[in-house]
Amino acid sequence: MIYSNMLKILIPLVISSCLYSCSQSNSAEHAPKHVPLKLVRDVKIIKKGEVQRGQGLYQALKNISIENEMALNLINQLRDEVEFSKLKVGDKLEAIFNQRNDLLRFSFSQNSYETHVVTFNKSTNKWDYSLETLETYWQPRMIEGSLKAGSSLEQDLLAMGLERSVVNEVVNVLLCKVNFRMNARQGDNYQVLLNERKHDDKTVQTQVLYTSYEGIRAGKHKSYYYEDEEKSSTYSAHYTSNGQALINSGLRYPLSRLHVRSGYGWRRHPVTGKRAMHRGVDLRGRAGASVHAVAAGKVVISSYNQFAGNKVAIRHKDKSTSFYYHLSKRHVKVGDWVRSHQVIGKVGATGRVTGAHLHFGFKDTRGRWMNPLNKRMIATPKLSGSRLVKLQNQVASIEGTIADIKISEKTNYLVANLREIKGPSKYDDLASYYLEL
Ligand SMILES: [Zn+2]
Repeated sequence: MIYSNMLKILIPLVISSCLYSCSQSNSAEHAPKHVPLKLVRDVKIIKKGEVQRGQGLYQALKNISIENEMALNLINQLRDEVEFSKLKVGDKLEAIFNQRNDLLRFSFSQNSYETHVVTFNKSTNKWDYSLETLETYWQPRMIEGSLKAGSSLEQDLLAMGLERSVVNEVVNVLLCKVNFRMNARQGDNYQVLLNERKHDDKTVQTQVLYTSYEGIRAGKHKSYYYEDEEKSSTYSAHYTSNGQALINSGLRYPLSRLHVRSGYGWRRHPVTGKRAMHRGVDLRGRAGASVHAVAAGKVVISSYNQFAGNKVAIRHKDKSTSFYYHLSKRHVKVGDWVRSHQVIGKVGATGRVTGAHLHFGFKDTRGRWMNPLNKRMIATPKLSGSRLVKLQNQVASIEGTIADIKISEKTNYLVANLREIKGPSKYDDLASYYLEL
């Protein structure tokens, strides 16, 4: 109790990311009068940090002076509560030490409304865990529109101010049913039902609960978000009302256009003239063109050698790996997490080549080379049994909310919130989601 009062006094004095030792006089000035001065005598050292680009958890801990055994100890304490595998740039860490440099309290947060805290309990000599959550509430929001001339669904939604990750999710779901390039027409109608988590009127998390698209050429399509009871279940995804999963294959093109110059398999090598196995495909690309990650993942190679030239490899969540050779520039380094379609380098002619192109290779989940052009969708789960029943209940709930919103537009009637439909954990887009299957 006394200790938590201490923190309330000391925390405002801390300057982010820098070490701040509170001197007695300084603290006393800020202390409310009813706190006895002797409590303020203990010096607390507070260190705050953020996960930086290309950093792992150990490095981030080290930056706030938590190392080795203590780092391992903390990770073990939090292992069941925190998804460290989803560590991302900007995740916040804070450590509080006493003047003998003993760690008293450690906290970690991956979003703006939840903080995982471990505190050293002197009486039990153990670490106590607690989750500090801000008060939030869920509020549905309907977005509707008609495709404008010369625009795309993606552009329309971005123009409405939706976050990029939300737009990607909507477009990826509908792409499973709609060939936008061929069939989108001006005047096509779309709807998106979002569920927004708010804290002090600020949106801290967004879920896509429902999408629909209707056009003369495209036909009529709807998706519903299903959330499985099991935490982080791969069944939690977007489905048609009869349980068909709408999960895009996830693999995107490494270049803006795909022209295969040399295919996968045995061939006469263009430089050596010898027959050799070509473990990838050569894609035409002009020098300097952007090379994109085909899916989200972690950079496991970013280096140069005389054959592959500048090469980058990305390990994806299903343990498959994509390879990009002969780059003129590499924009990522080992340990970086990349999003699907993130630019990772530029086309070049480094290594043993006859000219600028991208050599694109792919290893399957068991580490065997395969033709990347054969990398197609993993079998999509279809819901059945009790899961299908639960989906249908959720579809009914979503349809009910949509009906409520329509009535509320006319009557000012307040829409019930959707607290019972909790959302997916944050993932970059469906591409990375797919790779978790
Ligand atoms: Zn090649």
